[in-house]
Amino acid sequence: MILIGSTEFNIIKESLPLGVSLLAISKGHHQESIRKLSGFGQLDFGESRLQEAIPKKNELNDLKQLRWHFVGTLQKNKVRGVVKEFDFIHSVDSLSLLERISRISEEENKTPNIFLQVKFRDDPKKRGFLKQDLLHSWSKVISLNNINLIGLMTIPPIALDFSQRKDLFCECRNFANHLRLKDCSMGMSNDWKEAIEGGATWIRLGSRLFGNRKI
Ligand SMILES: *Cc1c(COP(=O)(O)O)cnc(C)c1O
Repeated sequence: MILIGSTEFNIIKESLPLGVSLLAISKGHHQESIRKLSGFGQLDFGESRLQEAIPKKNELNDLKQLRWHFVGTLQKNKVRGVVKEFDFIHSVDSLSLLERISRISEEENKTPNIFLQVKFRDDPKKRGFLKQDLLHSWSKVISLNNINLIGLMTIPPIALDFSQRKDLFCECRNFANHLRLKDCSMGMSNDWKEAIEGGATWIRLGSRLFGNRKI
């Protein structure tokens, strides 16, 4: 286990401005590491694959206070499982997926917290709504039942430098404000500082907390 120590963890936590929450991305790490980090006071954990998350969640079932966030690509046939297992979904990247989440959430009597993933730059490696498409679909988006729409999520293209990433994060913050959404899920181990400067409310740290992924 190459988990961060509690002192270093607290230094990161204390450096976060008011209103910025830390999501610990535990994909690729065993449940023991999650349990240990929860012992430092961490409550929010993010996973990117349903099949990997379910057994870990079962083993951690005694930790009722944990909140689970889905951050991976969400396939249609996994929506029911994700709606049942997760409190937050950060990676909703199309209207048809959102409609499906709404319908299934209604059936399951759930209301997940939703971030819409938006793509602010051309990037064949990333999914997400284009700004104009989201604006075009907006009246439908806000009419859906059993969806607690809380914010936008974005991942910058890998080639951007610090100031270009910061510009992108600011653009995401401004777009969220325009849509009257409170949250921006942005910033990972390599860019969380500029994401906070740009207006993130959730940063998603994986390797910075857990070391390199193992599973
Ligand atoms: C894996 C992952 C992270 C964490 O990445 P690190 O670089 O390890 O911090 C954050 N967000 C998403 C969507 C991820 O898939």
